[in-house]
Amino acid sequence: MQKEILRHRELKKQKTEMADAHCHLDLMENKDFTEFISYGVRTLITNGIDTKSNLETLNISDNRNIFPALGIDPQFALIVGGEELDFNIKLAKDNLSRIVAIGEIGLDFIAAADDAKKQKQIRIFERMLDLAAETHLPVSVHSRNSIKEVISVLEAKKTKKVHFHFFEGDLEDIYYIKKNNCMISVPPQPSARRMQVIKELPISNIMVESDAPAASKNPIYVENAIKMVSEIKGIDFERAAQIITANTKIFFNTKNKSNLNSLRK
Ligand SMILES: [Zn+2]
Repeated sequence: MQKEILRHRELKKQKTEMADAHCHLDLMENKDFTEFISYGVRTLITNGIDTKSNLETLNISDNRNIFPALGIDPQFALIVGGEELDFNIKLAKDNLSRIVAIGEIGLDFIAAADDAKKQKQIRIFERMLDLAAETHLPVSVHSRNSIKEVISVLEAKKTKKVHFHFFEGDLEDIYYIKKNNCMISVPPQPSARRMQVIKELPISNIMVESDAPAASKNPIYVENAIKMVSEIKGIDFERAAQIITANTKIFFNTKNKSNLNSLRK
């Protein structure tokens, strides 16, 4: 009997719907995605980082559970040439009915140590923000060691729908996020600063991410990020999962990009 109750609880727990706001499923070794989907991570935003990755991202996205974002990440921004840049921009425009964001894009001042490299990253980042404005899509932004510069470029471009992935900002940056109603996504790894950010921001600005396979091996670990948010916000896990999943679906407008719509017609 005891066992039965536990088993029932386990099943119930696994059915909690979760969403991963930022991952790279094209880079996962194991391309069988049924494990984390049946575990409950039923909405995932997978981000392309370069040409090969953007093409593969489109390939593996089903627009049912897995939704594609296409971008030029800060590493690739350092080497991308004009023609290849144009190819990726056209790829995004040609797949507007499927893609939910321009991402991963942004700046990374660990990868770009000198000024010439920083300027190159900024130029590509600006071009990607123009593309987002033109296509009315949100952006998924990387800002390692560059949050101040990222914010100043976003302000100059007046970019509207911004998602800061792996947000590592301070109180001043939190003010920017609140004022502009941006979203952040919380990875599963706790840190003092991250916990402070979760405390300061309303839950309506919070999503969770695995960044799999980079920061976490598998999207199922978003469960730990939801646990962290629920504990800091003092609400139960189920409620936190519900709010965070809804935030993700609304921000990326997945309902409009779902192929279930066309199946229903
Ligand atoms: Zn990433």
